[in-house]
Amino acid sequence: MSSSRPQGEGILIAVTGPSGSGKTSVCKALRAMFPRLRFSVSLTTRPRRPSEVDGEDYHFVCEAEFRERIRRGDLVEWAENYGKLYGTSREAMEEALRGNDLLLDVDTRGARALKKACPGGIFVFIVPPSIGELERRLRGRGSETEETIRRRFDNALREIREIVWYDYIIVNDELDAAIDRLRAVYLAAACRRERMMEKIKPFFERSGGM
Ligand code: ADP
Ligand code: 5GP
Repeated sequence: MSSSRPQGEGILIAVTGPSGSGKTSVCKALRAMFPRLRFSVSLTTRPRRPSEVDGEDYHFVCEAEFRERIRRGDLVEWAENYGKLYGTSREAMEEALRGNDLLLDVDTRGARALKKACPGGIFVFIVPPSIGELERRLRGRGSETEETIRRRFDNALREIREIVWYDYIIVNDELDAAIDRLRAVYLAAACRRERMMEKIKPFFERSGGM
């Protein structure tokens, strides 16, 4: 996004989507479009997938380190998924939001916790176009066992029930269209009046104050 927007507290945009919904692909594309949009790199104890880079997609840590971070109160939220731990670093999140916007990829529990910590955040849920397509994408990603795929599929159906409290729903039928929709949500958030008042102030001052 251009620098026409005043600095200040950034926009928090949390994206949830069950495994296989395509949220990683959609979020990656948005990150590439907007340099001002930082990505919250979560900590996780799950093994790295071949396509992933440590420090960019996740910070891959052992369970002892993760537990130590919880004990120190370093995590603004964390949750267990499929026997592995995932969490958001409080410091990284606050630091990024001071001058940037922040994109987070979290499950429904993480999103709920973030909504408490940051009620002004934007909460977006990404869904696959159909149940059949969800299953196909989970299989298409490869590298996972039948049991893991089945667990992710069942969990996806459970997660989708949480959709009722989200602000936006994006159906990921065509990847480019889904990316466009998320981009539209982000741009609209940046144009909200309360975010723009600082920039508009001089007009009021010239016409007798606000
Ligand atoms: P998630 O992070 O939600 O688990 P990914 O972004 O890893 O999802 O996508 C899961 C699989 O589906 C990947 O192989 C990805 O390339 C594919 N995929 C994502 N979006 C689409 C789409 N709109 N159409 C077809 N395949 C897609
Ligand atoms: P995956 O293993 O497919 O990358 O992610 C599994 C699930 O963990 C996804 O639903 C993803 O959104 C979620 N997740 C990733 N990072 C975090 C995090 O920091 N906190 C929470 N609560 N969930 C996360």
